[in-house]
Amino acid sequence: MTGADAAAPDAGESPSVRRVGDWDADRLADLAAEHGTPLYVQDLDRVRENCERLLAAFPGADVRYAVKAHTGRRVLEAVRDAGLDAECASAGEVDRALAAGFGGDRLHYTAVNPPARDLDYVVGVAEAEPDLTVTAGAVDTLDRLAERGYDGRVCVRVNPGVGAGHHEKVRTGGAAKFGIPYDRAADAARAAAERFDVVGIHAHAGSGIDPDQLDSHRELVARMGELARELTDPDPAGGAAGVGDAPAPLDLDYVDVGGGFGVPYEEDEPPLDLPAVAEATREAVAPLPAGVDLAVEPGRYVVADAGVLLTRVNTVKPTPDERVVGVDAGMTDLLRPAMYDAYHPIRNLGGGRGSDGGDAPAPEERGATAVTVAGPICETGDTLCRDRALADPVRGDLLAVGVAGAYGYEMASQYNSRPRPAEVALDDGTATVARRRERLADVTSTERAETATEPATEGGR
Ligand SMILES: *Cc1c(COP(=O)(O)O)cnc(C)c1O
Repeated sequence: MTGADAAAPDAGESPSVRRVGDWDADRLADLAAEHGTPLYVQDLDRVRENCERLLAAFPGADVRYAVKAHTGRRVLEAVRDAGLDAECASAGEVDRALAAGFGGDRLHYTAVNPPARDLDYVVGVAEAEPDLTVTAGAVDTLDRLAERGYDGRVCVRVNPGVGAGHHEKVRTGGAAKFGIPYDRAADAARAAAERFDVVGIHAHAGSGIDPDQLDSHRELVARMGELARELTDPDPAGGAAGVGDAPAPLDLDYVDVGGGFGVPYEEDEPPLDLPAVAEATREAVAPLPAGVDLAVEPGRYVVADAGVLLTRVNTVKPTPDERVVGVDAGMTDLLRPAMYDAYHPIRNLGGGRGSDGGDAPAPEERGATAVTVAGPICETGDTLCRDRALADPVRGDLLAVGVAGAYGYEMASQYNSRPRPAEVALDDGTATVARRRERLADVTSTERAETATEPATEGGR
């Protein structure tokens, strides 16, 4: 579906980034007091603004939300209402998108080495929702779909051989795991068209398109435009000899050039110039054959700056080397710093006690001290920042970890038998619990007291 119709008239007017300093400190303190910490706060109004800015920047394009960035029901519903489609990476995500009201025509499932169970499930869904599209990045995956009787809409994922991304681990365009190598993609797409309805080609270069990486983005997009022209060319031999053997043109609906739109995590990093990226994308992909739309699938950009993680200081420990500020959120709540060395801005909202037992001064009135903020997990890597100047934290202070709305709760785990945190959604200013805090009983809820007798069947969904 084309999202342009859903864009509000004033779309694009919202600020291009929300910084951690822009959040209302008193409101966050109230939420932490009411719901406890660690606590995610996700502002659906900001999610909507981000959707509108994307739709305004890419008029006429298909804009798909990569739901893995944040799969919370309320977020999915807000994104659906804003007019974006859903891009899903697993059976579980397809299940959640369906539950949030995305119809098959707005559902895209991208199968990366898909487990049999996922394929079984999605092929089953496609029987009821034949407009669903499956994106496959290997001929084996296409074979496995055909084996299950699937002959519906397919998009071929291409490895364009160029990659962008803020960290090695999220640079996918060059990684062989993702997509069919560019040189073989045309043949693979044509062969697929004999068994399926091939509706698109797709590439996703990784996460973190930022102003410095526009060139590799342009290169990827240009290659995809070229491939689309080649595949849809009604007269590939140019009227020359061998016309009889010329492959039949494919009737593509779209060229999906992926997501990866960066957000500024560092305070002094400028926001992405989205209109400029959109312009560069349109230029690089052009000319698209008639009837072939541009598609993009941002995840992070939709939700990242709409979320903060609130955490309480419980221990302050001066050591000869550094001042360690212990908090109640760790890598089990927000994995990105430990996994990617990711930077998240941290703001001290105060509220703690001074050494005399009375209220500590407001953070603005304190000096800044370089600190390491560490979580409660028994891992050296369990830090939210190192050597960062913060308004001198004291016990009881509340810290807001900014730009935590993408890949935050999603990557949370129960390691160290830690229940996952709660999440509050703000909708038109009203706070409601979107995900309750897990209890200790949730951590053990899958265990059996007796020896398990359930078979681990492939189809045991
Ligand atoms: C993760 C992913 C995206 C979104 O990436 P962001 O960096 O969050 O924009 C888009 N497409 C695919 C196939 C993905 O796996």
